[in-house]
Amino acid sequence: MDTVARIRPIPIAYPDPNDFGTIRRTVLVRVQTADGVVGWGECIAMWPEACKAVATIISEGLAPLVEGQDATDTAGIWNRMRQHIWWYGEGGIASMALSGVDMALWDIAGKIAGKPLHDMLGGLKHERLIANASSHVNKKGEAACVAEVVGFFEAGFRSCKLGFAKKGESNIGGDPDTDVSFIRALRKALGPDAPILVDIGNGVKWDVDTAISVANRMAEYDIGWFEEPLYPTDDAGYKKLAASTSVRIASGEREFTAAGYRRQMEMGAVEVFGVDPARAEGITGFRKVDALASRFAKTINAHAWSTAITSAASLHLSLASPNTELFEFKPFDVVVQTELVTDRVWHRDGWAYPLTGPGLGIDVVEEVVERLAANV
Ligand SMILES: [Mg+2]
Repeated sequence: MDTVARIRPIPIAYPDPNDFGTIRRTVLVRVQTADGVVGWGECIAMWPEACKAVATIISEGLAPLVEGQDATDTAGIWNRMRQHIWWYGEGGIASMALSGVDMALWDIAGKIAGKPLHDMLGGLKHERLIANASSHVNKKGEAACVAEVVGFFEAGFRSCKLGFAKKGESNIGGDPDTDVSFIRALRKALGPDAPILVDIGNGVKWDVDTAISVANRMAEYDIGWFEEPLYPTDDAGYKKLAASTSVRIASGEREFTAAGYRRQMEMGAVEVFGVDPARAEGITGFRKVDALASRFAKTINAHAWSTAITSAASLHLSLASPNTELFEFKPFDVVVQTELVTDRVWHRDGWAYPLTGPGLGIDVVEEVVERLAANV
C-alpha cells in the first residue's frame, strides 16, 4: 500500500489575456506519496484572501487527516475530509480546499493503476466533444466583438460561449438592446449552424421581466443556452423565466455541493448545470452531481476556465459523462495552459479528444509552478 506522504497547497498568480490581462489567482495542490508518486489538483479560490484561506485549510486542517492514509482510497479520504469540515464547510472555501486534494488523489490513483482518469471513472461515454471557445466579450464596439468570435471559428472552434459585462472596453451587458443587436450581428456573421451560448453572469443585474424579454429576443437568433441571467438562488425568478421562454436556462457554476445541485434540479427551471471540479468538491463531488444529472435528465457542463490541471480533470469527467454536450477552452494563450504542462490540453480540428496518459494525463512543469507561486 502506498500512503500519502505530503500535501502542499501552492497559491499562484498570473496575468490572463482571456480576462483583459487581469491578474488571476488560484491554488494548486501537490500531493506526494511515500513511494514518490506525485498528483496535482486545483482549488479555484481566485480572490487573494480566499486563496490564503484555502491554503490554510489544506495545510492545517486536511493534510494532517490525509497524510498517512492509503493514497488510492479516494472515497474514504473524501469522506474523512467532509466529516472534518462539517461545521464550517459543505460549501464555500472549505469545499474548494477539499476539491484540490481530491483531484490530486485521483491523479495519483490513476498513476498507480496505470490508467487515465476516464478509465477510472467507468470509461468513455463520448469519443470526443465539440470544442467551445469560452470568451469574454470585451472589445470596443459591436463589429470588433463579432470579428473576434468569427476568428475563433476560423481557428477551428465549433461553438462559442460569450461572457457579458466583463472587464474591458465593451458595453455588452449594459443595455438589452445593445446585447440583442450583438447576438443578431453575430448570428448573421456565423451563419445558421454555429452554436452560440450566452453567459450573462454576475456582472449583469436584470430583473426577471428583463431576463424574459432578452431571452425571447435572443431566441430568434437560436442561442444554445442562456446562462445565469438571474442571481443563482432566485428560484422564483428562474421558474418564471423558464415558464416564459423556450430558451434553455443554464446555471449552477456557483454551487458547491451535490445537495445544492439536487435542490436546483428538483426546482426544475434549470436545464444545463455548470460544475467545476476545482470548486464542487473535486472529482468525487463532480461525479455525485453527474449521477444526479442522470437521475433528473439534466445536462452538465464542466466549468474549466482556469489552469490546465482543472482543464484536464474536466475533460476526463466530461468524456466519462453521458450528460455533457461540449467542452470549453480558453481561446487565448495563457501561461497556466501553455507552459504549466508539457503538452497543452487543447482541441484538434475543433474536437476535444481524451487524454491518454495515466491519472489526469498531464505532466506539470514544476519550475513554472514555482515561478507563478513567486508572483503571490
Ligand atoms: Mg458562466
